[in-house]
Amino acid sequence: MFEYSKISDMCIKCGKCIPTCTIHQVNPDEVTSPRGFIELLGDYQKGAIELDREAKDIFESCFLCTNCVDVCPNDLPTDMIIEEVRADIAKKYGIAWYKRAFFWLLRHRFVMDLANKLGFVFHSCALKKEPKGRGLLPRFELPMIKKDRLLPSLKSKSFLNKYPSRLNKEKGPKVAIFIGCLANYNYTQIGDSLVDILKTLGYEIFIPKKQLCCGAPAYFTGDFDTVEYLTKKNIEYFESFIDEVEAIIIPEATCSAMIRHDWEVFFENRGMDAWAERTRKLNKKIYMATEWLYHHTKLSDILAKKGKRLPTITYHDACHARKVQGIWQEPRALLAKNYQLKEMEDPNRCCGFGGVTIQTEKFHLAEAAGKPKAAMIAQSGAQVVSAECSACRVQISNSLYQNGVEAVFKNPVELIAEALKED
Ligand code: SF4
Ligand code: SF4
Repeated sequence: MFEYSKISDMCIKCGKCIPTCTIHQVNPDEVTSPRGFIELLGDYQKGAIELDREAKDIFESCFLCTNCVDVCPNDLPTDMIIEEVRADIAKKYGIAWYKRAFFWLLRHRFVMDLANKLGFVFHSCALKKEPKGRGLLPRFELPMIKKDRLLPSLKSKSFLNKYPSRLNKEKGPKVAIFIGCLANYNYTQIGDSLVDILKTLGYEIFIPKKQLCCGAPAYFTGDFDTVEYLTKKNIEYFESFIDEVEAIIIPEATCSAMIRHDWEVFFENRGMDAWAERTRKLNKKIYMATEWLYHHTKLSDILAKKGKRLPTITYHDACHARKVQGIWQEPRALLAKNYQLKEMEDPNRCCGFGGVTIQTEKFHLAEAAGKPKAAMIAQSGAQVVSAECSACRVQISNSLYQNGVEAVFKNPVELIAEALKED
């Protein structure tokens, strides 16, 4: 387990983390800064402060963006110790009923599919399409959702239910797709595009139907029972086919970071060494989609033979892609073959998604953090903003809508699939 007081003692109070901190940019107070969080956690472990409601509120305001970790000279894991204290918060105060209901659905795919279907059938009673097709808008105020908030679209069929488990049978080497919940239910065009790309490259595609959520929403909220259930189920399932595939590819930064990085940390912190080892073994074959497509296929050469096309694109670096996994050059290199890229002022600045609690109880923080990102995108003059992360898509699409910016959001695999269609 992390020893908060040891980490607190290792903080040299240099303050390098403070200007980069997403919550500190929104709420410039020492207590809502990485240095402040670390000091409070040290005091909490020493018994000098209580985990009272004020402390709960402070620890729940971190966006887990990892900006602080990226710049800290001592590599202090502020994000990870906040994830850990959220489990203490969940034990002491419980988890709100709607979050528990959501995490229960994540464990039960069949019921989630049914809920998604019902949501699709009845959504037009409460929601209408945004004119640019970027999502759905409430027709009236909904509980915890303001009328001007853009929500992700709903689909009649999930990605996992749309396709057979094997495509392009015996056409070439086999790869599996881990799709992630948002791409499975809301942004199914991401999976469609990945399937198209893999078909063009001549791969047999395996769509593992029993895959479950990677556990990220529960992990960031402190529901560690759900994390343990989902991770163990997924590990056992992945092991049943890992030897038959070249890779498991994931077009989602958060899911990929959770599986490749946080699963191991989670098991190690709980002394479950055998599970940590199983995760490490699987990780040798798990990749983010653009990372694998760039390094392991001939996609770059194929794209180079296609012409340049519109729209112009600005690329946003999802925290879980660039900072956690070091992936930022690969999607740009692939996109640059066919599109003009216009960098925004700070592509590495967190979009402000922040997780389930920030998107529900603390949405004002997400709105404040999203505003500067929307302004940067507008200033770049690009028509499309791209990132390999659907959590960023939810947040950035809403920020664009609320701040009157015309750009639309697309995952890089969608843009690559569109370029491949050109003769
Ligand atoms: S993870 Fe992000 S929001 Fe949280 S303390 Fe670090 S920089 Fe600030
Ligand atoms: S950068 Fe690291 S050492 Fe410096 S104040 Fe922040 S957490 Fe402490």
